[in-house]
Amino acid sequence: MKNTIITNVRIFDGTGSDPFPGDVLIEGRRIKRIWAAGQPRDIVEAHRIDGRGRFLMPGMTDAHTHFSWNDQPSLAAIQFMPPEEHILWCVGVAKRYLDMGFTSALGAAAAKPRLDVVLRNAIDAGNFPGPRYLAGSQEITTLGGLGDNTLPHMPFRELNFGEVVSGPEDVRRAARMFIKYGVDHLKINLSGEYIAGIPAEASPFSEEEIAMLAAEARRAGKRVAAHARSSVSVKQCVRHGFELVFHASFADDEALDMLEANKDKHFVAPGLGWLVSTLYHAEQWGITQQAATDMGYARELEVASDTLQKMHKRGIRILPGGDYGFAWMPHGTNAKDLEYLMRYVGMSAKEALLSATRLGGEIMMLPEDIGQIRPGFLADLILVDGDPLTDITLLQDPEKIAMVWKDGNVVKDRLRVTEPILV
Ligand SMILES: [Zn+2]
Repeated sequence: MKNTIITNVRIFDGTGSDPFPGDVLIEGRRIKRIWAAGQPRDIVEAHRIDGRGRFLMPGMTDAHTHFSWNDQPSLAAIQFMPPEEHILWCVGVAKRYLDMGFTSALGAAAAKPRLDVVLRNAIDAGNFPGPRYLAGSQEITTLGGLGDNTLPHMPFRELNFGEVVSGPEDVRRAARMFIKYGVDHLKINLSGEYIAGIPAEASPFSEEEIAMLAAEARRAGKRVAAHARSSVSVKQCVRHGFELVFHASFADDEALDMLEANKDKHFVAPGLGWLVSTLYHAEQWGITQQAATDMGYARELEVASDTLQKMHKRGIRILPGGDYGFAWMPHGTNAKDLEYLMRYVGMSAKEALLSATRLGGEIMMLPEDIGQIRPGFLADLILVDGDPLTDITLLQDPEKIAMVWKDGNVVKDRLRVTEPILV
């Protein structure tokens, strides 16, 4: 028998309602029924888990992560990790997301062509525990763009960080290669990145190249994700229909108008974790606050905060996901992005939770299946010790994530419910 009833919990259902006390019945993979406290409950045959007043919420989605980023202090350390070790690394990281209550994640790009795809397939086949995962391509970049880390005379140029292209036909070849491998979406680096020595405001791709990627993605029915810090690159995303807009720090009013006019199509994952951590928490790894400021990150965080507040007021969908996977911001600390959405974007705690849950269901293309606690939805759930609506940082503490379910199965259990009671 696979039925489970979780009793005596405060239910944050992800619909926008305030949490209410009640019980939730899981039947197989899905949520069968929800009873508010005081509502007469019919007798059901199920294992009972007494929530003891804890906070039950939908599993969270990280909208911008790279499982193949390996918690090291440099891009080179990611780039030159041998493929055999690299896929094992990804397998280990996937489990960490589940443990922290992230039952879904969107791969923003893989460090080698097939890492994301192979990992996603292994998780979907049930071979290894991990969140629902949408697999990205490598970063498609221009010669000299972000992710082109080699020079022609270097013996290791076959192991470049990104897939380097030049010209529309080359874009077509790269797109078709990743589509052949089975990615869920293509990733393109439409702007620069200070730490790589290329200004965030730079927009190095030509219109012809971008249009080619859009055409190839459309034909294959794939979405496109873009590293888009510059204002020009955000406008390119809207004009060419690239659904997943990462960063968007320097979007000007025209770019915001364009996003707002298409807000049902686009998602913005600003990646605040990267900006905040690189500016304030990377000193131990040689990046002092002064060094990060000199690169441009202090200014970018200030401008991005302003831009994102405007974006939020316009009702554009903004999601957590901050490029976790560097030494100063390892995988598993992803819930910091919810705190940053409050601090830098002006979200309420409830809005931050909704962006990690309901909007997560939308960006994962499963809006009727995950991200909410409603009858018929998949049972991806987290039981939290304490109230994240009064202290959002609780979600950063592994001890407070008491239980996690994915697909109706318990994937983390700190309560050690070894002998569930039959009711
Ligand atoms: Zn990224």
